[in-house]
Amino acid sequence: MSWLNSSLAAILPIFPKWIARPFAAPYVAGESLDDALNIVRSLNDKGFKATMDILGEHVHSKEEAFQVRDAYQMLYDRIAEWRLDSNVSLKPTHLGMEIDASLAEDNILSILAKAKEHDNFLRIDMENSPYTDKTVHIYNECLNQYPKVGTVLQAYLFRTIEDVQSLNAPSFNCRICKGIYKESPQIALQDRQEINENFLAATKSLILGGSYAAIATHDISLIDDLETWIEDKKIPKNRYEFQVLYGVPMNGRLEALLHNGHTVRIYVPFGDAWFDYSIRRLKENPNILWYILKNMFKKRSTHE
Ligand SMILES: Cc1cc2nc3c(=O)[nH]c(=O)nc-3n(C[C@H](O)[C@H](O)[C@H](O)COP(=O)(O)OP(=O)(O)OC[C@H]3O[C@@H](n4cnc5c(N)ncnc54)[C@H](O)[C@@H]3O)c2cc1C
Repeated sequence: MSWLNSSLAAILPIFPKWIARPFAAPYVAGESLDDALNIVRSLNDKGFKATMDILGEHVHSKEEAFQVRDAYQMLYDRIAEWRLDSNVSLKPTHLGMEIDASLAEDNILSILAKAKEHDNFLRIDMENSPYTDKTVHIYNECLNQYPKVGTVLQAYLFRTIEDVQSLNAPSFNCRICKGIYKESPQIALQDRQEINENFLAATKSLILGGSYAAIATHDISLIDDLETWIEDKKIPKNRYEFQVLYGVPMNGRLEALLHNGHTVRIYVPFGDAWFDYSIRRLKENPNILWYILKNMFKKRSTHE
């Protein structure tokens, strides 16, 4: 089955969008802001917090970058109006990093000012390695302005343990993830087991060093290991949270985390750039196609 899923995921990008839409739907909280706000409301009702992301990356003009900045500012207003328990995540290349790092920095600082106005939090996502230093620099500039800001470190990069050591502090709010981009063996671990070990080491070092850790993974064995470690070490519940991407099947593990008193935050991407994002998710895990097909047929038979 997995070869079939891989082949389907590989050819989906050449289909028209209306064919791809049912495959994309589980990962994206809709095209409009209102769709996404409604989804966040229903997640909040179930006890989950959210982080909202406007889909898109690598804008190629200043005008586009300014439009994205304005959309993010409006997003903070709407989250407040709807009284949702959600913060915001953004990608620096969506705010112009590829054109000019100082353009992205200015835009992100303006968005941060809006976060401050609403006493909300901003997460600066981490993209591929050409942007790592620039993103850490922008994060530090933001932290000088307002404390409710965080960034992301990727367990597959060799440099990550050193980054943890140099950034570790009670003011550091760090999402730790495995890393989604293709990186060369010169700078990144390629072996799953080694990445997992680095993930565990980085997370423990963040928490023991006083930072706040947002543990972002769907890997049940990592979640299990870290939950046990957190309980053994009696780590206070306000020092970490678990994070997952919207739509990834977790078979009740998230509800169990909530039940045990942990914070769980769902990353909720939305917007009209849904196609590229969903194709990336499908390529990352082609087996999801099987779940989606099963769910589509299940729905049909319950409607009949
Ligand atoms: C909240 C959040 C924010 C993130 N932010 C960033 C970021 O800023 N920068 C960055 O580089 N990466 C980011 N990532 C992506 C991350 O780096 C990984 O690429 C991604 O989460 C897959 O790794 P995993 O830890 O889930 O483990 P894996 O070993 O890849 O997956 C574990 C299991 O989870 C399931 N699974 C994983 N992904 C999916 C999926 N998409 N669909 C269906 N099932 C799946 C599979 O069953 C798989 O066997 C983020 C991930 C999350 C959860």
